[in-house]
Amino acid sequence: HEASTSNFLRQIIDADLKADRFGDKRWAAPPATARELDKAPIDSARIRTRFPPEPNGFLHIGHAKSIWVNFGMAAHYGGICHLRFDDTNPEKEEQAYVEAIMDAVKWLGYDWQHSDQPGDQSHLYFASDYFEVMYQFACALINANLAYVDEQSADQMRTNRGTLTSPGTNSPWRDRPAQASLQRFAEMRAGQHPDGAMALRARIDMASPNINLRDPVIYRIRHAHHHRTGDAWCIYPMYSWAHPVEDALEGITHSICTLEFEDQRPFYDWTLNTLADLGLLKRPLPHQYEFARLNMSYVVTSKRKLLQLVQEGHVQGWDDPRMPTIAGLRRRGYTPSSIKLFCERTGVSKANSRIDYSVLEQAFRDDQDPVAPRAVAILDPVKLVITNLPADQVVMCQAPRHPHLPELGQREFAFTRELWIEREDFMEEPAKKYFRLYPGNQVRLKYAFVVTCTGCIKDEHGRVTEVHAEYLPDTRSGTPGADAVKVKGTVTWVSATHAIAAQIRLYDRLFTEAYPDAGDGDFLDHLNPDSVKTVNGWLEPGIDLNTAVWQFERLGYFAPDAKASENGLPVINRVTTLKDTWAA
Ligand code: ATP
Ligand code: MG
Ligand code: MG
Repeated sequence: HEASTSNFLRQIIDADLKADRFGDKRWAAPPATARELDKAPIDSARIRTRFPPEPNGFLHIGHAKSIWVNFGMAAHYGGICHLRFDDTNPEKEEQAYVEAIMDAVKWLGYDWQHSDQPGDQSHLYFASDYFEVMYQFACALINANLAYVDEQSADQMRTNRGTLTSPGTNSPWRDRPAQASLQRFAEMRAGQHPDGAMALRARIDMASPNINLRDPVIYRIRHAHHHRTGDAWCIYPMYSWAHPVEDALEGITHSICTLEFEDQRPFYDWTLNTLADLGLLKRPLPHQYEFARLNMSYVVTSKRKLLQLVQEGHVQGWDDPRMPTIAGLRRRGYTPSSIKLFCERTGVSKANSRIDYSVLEQAFRDDQDPVAPRAVAILDPVKLVITNLPADQVVMCQAPRHPHLPELGQREFAFTRELWIEREDFMEEPAKKYFRLYPGNQVRLKYAFVVTCTGCIKDEHGRVTEVHAEYLPDTRSGTPGADAVKVKGTVTWVSATHAIAAQIRLYDRLFTEAYPDAGDGDFLDHLNPDSVKTVNGWLEPGIDLNTAVWQFERLGYFAPDAKASENGLPVINRVTTLKDTWAA
């Protein structure tokens, strides 16, 4: 499920290749001050994309879409995708997030190591590696009178920016001599000024109809410790300026981002063209393209809100199986291929839209139904006693591991006097059209015998504690004449003496509202208080607990939770039900 489906980005790339926009040796060596980016000439990989997360949280399903677009698109064209950490906001960033992000990208099946590119293998980058060259570029802008240090307060700058309908007002510092700005910029770097005292701004046009071109700030003072550069810097570049510089230094051809950056594109182009005119970057320059971000119902996809869920203890952590994070989806049991199928189905478009959560669930079912091994589990057990089978007798039964994959072979399990069945599979007083167990009725115990229900035992509260039945020895599944007795109901079961105990977690939506952060209120008001239900159930004996995903017959798709199973009792997550129970 690579990003190979026809979409507008592919049309752009196809046209670029046809026009030979990049030539063969398109990317000259980066400036001497830049970190040594690539040791070998870049020629075989003509398409370069990048996935540029900020290491300020775990990645979510929206990022998976961006990873799929960027890595998938590069792979489709035999190109390269860079993993670049956009670590320009020291207060919010952490090494732990860097590692979690690398883990998520790899788990999805993508790699920034291109072993097929001799001498050009690792494409892991950090914006912080460019801090020195970015500083030099900023000085060059100042020298060319294209940037100045503004000593207005942040409030004054905001006020003087103007509005959509009125132009901005020039700062009194706008026309200061380059030397004075250079001096101040050096002082900013040297730590001589407090946060917010001044900022470096590009000198473009305070009357531009695009507010992003009204002398945007490109450097601000932040006396903050950075997870990689430590205390080496107390000024940090703004994302909107840093991003095009990073793209150009790395030889990115197609810089793909989400629609909210569309208004930033003129500044992206201004930055690159200006630096190229100054001889600091070589043409051809990267281009920015925007696609609609993924918005999904019943979750929030904002790292800030996900962080809040974690910090305030509304979930058990970033990898809680209810979280729309890649780590959470993974722990829940989602597979990389199901997430890629979801990305493919939701497509790449220019128009914002909302995707229902059920689309992800259906992608998972379609991904797993053809491959997931089958097994039986009982989630709400009540005992079924086969009164005409001696307690020491064991009859081995068989079932296919997968109905359409005979090569997977058969599974075997014991049929014994005491079984577990689902409580809902017995009714003392049957409802209309109820074909399962009730006194006098016959049903098939799946893969085993037809039984006749003979009654039940109840406790002092009237709750059924045992169901009784007699089996018909000649009706064993798979033997000649097994079908002679016709029944209308089939019931799943496991042997009470052989079954494996397990804790099973059944999940519901994390929010009760489809778009919890759409209204005016607090998204936390819409948390579903019943988003997880834990039951003690029984699994078919012989089940391989190391299987990635099972289909439990009648119940849905389940996956073992290795992290939660640490104390011995297997913990199993329901990924999704067999059918969409959420039809809107
Ligand atoms: P968040 O608002 O959740 O913090 P972000 O965009 O600030 O997301 P980044 O770390 O900057 O987070 O994201 C890395 C890349 O992933 C960016 O190119 C961004 O456009 C993309 N991305 C983030 N969210 C989505 C989404 N919902 N759909 C598609 N792409 C996304
Ligand atoms: Mg961002
Ligand atoms: Mg963000």
